Amino acid sequence: MLPSVLAKSFKCIVPNVWPSRNIASLSALSETYQMLFKTCRDFAEAELKPNAAKYDKEHLYPGDAIRKMGDLGLMAIAVPEELGGAGLDYLAYAIALEEISRGCASAGVIMSVNNSLYLGPVTHWGTDKQKSDFVTPFCNGESVGCFALSEPGNGSDAGAASTTAKDGGNKWVINGTKCWITNGYESKAAVVFATTDKSLKHKGISAFIVPKPINGLELGKKEDKLGIRASSTCSLMYEDCEIPKENILGEPGFGFKIAMMTLDAGRIGIASQALGIAQASLDVAAEYASKRMAFGKPIMKLQSIQNKLAEMALRLESARLLTWRAAWLKDNKQPYTKEAAMAKLAASEAATFLSHQCIQILGGMGYVSDMPAERHYRDARITEIYEGTSEIQRLVIAGQLIKEYELN
Ligand SMILES: Cc1cc2nc3c(=O)[nH]c(=O)nc-3n(C[C@H](O)[C@H](O)[C@H](O)COP(=O)(O)OP(=O)(O)OC[C@H]3O[C@@H](n4cnc5c(N)ncnc54)[C@H](O)[C@@H]3O)c2cc1C
Repeated sequence: MLPSVLAKSFKCIVPNVWPSRNIASLSALSETYQMLFKTCRDFAEAELKPNAAKYDKEHLYPGDAIRKMGDLGLMAIAVPEELGGAGLDYLAYAIALEEISRGCASAGVIMSVNNSLYLGPVTHWGTDKQKSDFVTPFCNGESVGCFALSEPGNGSDAGAASTTAKDGGNKWVINGTKCWITNGYESKAAVVFATTDKSLKHKGISAFIVPKPINGLELGKKEDKLGIRASSTCSLMYEDCEIPKENILGEPGFGFKIAMMTLDAGRIGIASQALGIAQASLDVAAEYASKRMAFGKPIMKLQSIQNKLAEMALRLESARLLTWRAAWLKDNKQPYTKEAAMAKLAASEAATFLSHQCIQILGGMGYVSDMPAERHYRDARITEIYEGTSEIQRLVIAGQLIKEYELN
C-alpha cells in the first residue's frame, strides 16, 4: 500500500480526467507505483509545468514546490518511514523523479540530490544519532542536503581529492574547496569527501557530514548555467572548518567506496531526470506536429516527421526500460553498477537527442522561449555531464564487462 502521506495527498489532487499517455507502460506494475505516478504527474502539471519557464528565466529556487514535494513524501522516497521517509523503493523513485522532471528539470535535480546523494549515504552508513540529526529533518522538503565530491582540480578523477580532514583530537578540521555543488546555496548539510591520509590515495578518503552554515565555510558565486537554472550550483570553500569527531560517515578511509556506491544509485536518479526531459520533449513535439500545417496538412502526416517521432519514442522507451531494470536490481539487492551506468548513459543521450529533434520539429518556434523546447534542450545537456560524464559511464560499463569476462 501507498504510505499514508502519499495516499492522503493522492486523494486531494487526482483529477477526474486523466491523460492516458504513459499509463500503458505502468499497467504491469502494482497499484502503489500507478498511484505514485498519477500523484506526481498531477503535481507536476499543476505546480511545476506552469512555473518552470519563470524559475528558469529568473534562476528562482522553487522553494514552495520543494516543500510541497516534501509533503508528498518525494524528498525522501526510499528512506524508511520510521525515519520520516516514504518507505518506498528505487523503482518508485525512478517513476516519481521522471514525472517531476517532466514538469521541471531543476526541481528534478534538487529532488535527486537530496534523495540519492545526500539521504542515500547518510541513511545507509549513518549512526542512529546521525540519522536523527541529519536524515529525519531532511525528509519533508524544509531542508535539503548536498553532496560535495568534485574539486576544481578533479572531477572525473574523484580519487585524487585534495581537500583534507585533519584529526584534531575531539574534532576534524577541514580545509579545501569543493566545486559545482548542486543545492550548494540552500542546503543545510553536506556530505563532504576529504582525505585523512594522502599517502593512501583514494583509500585515504573519508566521508563527513558537515552542517551548513558553519564557521570556516564560505560559498562561491552562484554559477550562471546553461540549463537547470533554478537549482543552485556553487563552490564550498572550507578553511579550518571544525566539525565534531562523531561527524565522520562510516569508517575512516571508506569515503571513496561510499562515493562510488552513492553514485551508482544517483545514476538511476539522473537517468530518471533525463527521461522526464526526454518525455517532455516528445510531448511537445507530438502535439505541435499534430497542429502545425504545412503544404496543406499537419506536419505529423509527413513521413520524415513520423520517422523522427518514431526514433524519439524508441530511444525514450529503451532508456526507460534500462532505468527501471537498474532500479529493480537495486531494490532486489543484486549488483547494478553496470546497469545504472547503462541507464544513465542511454537516458542522458536520449534526452539530448529528443530535445534536439523536438526543436527541429518545431522549426523556428523551437528556437524561442515562448515554447519549452529550447529549455528542454538546455536542461538535457547536463545529464551527460554530472554524476559521471558519458565517457566515464562507458569506462564503468567496460570495467564491469572486463570483470564478467575475467579479462583482468
Ligand atoms: C551543473 C552541475 C552540477 C554538479 N553537481 C555536482 C554535485 O552536486 N556534487 C559534485 O560533487 N559534483 C557536481 N558536479 C560536478 C560533475 O560531477 C563534474 O563536472 C563531472 O564529474 C566532470 O568532471 P569535470 O567537470 O572536472 O571534467 P573533467 O574530469 O575535467 O573531464 C573533462 C573531459 O574529459 C573527459 N575525461 C576525463 N577523464 C576521462 C577518462 N578517464 N576517460 C575518458 N574521458 C575522460 C570527460 O568525460 C570530459 O569530457 C556538477 C557539475 C555541474 C556542471
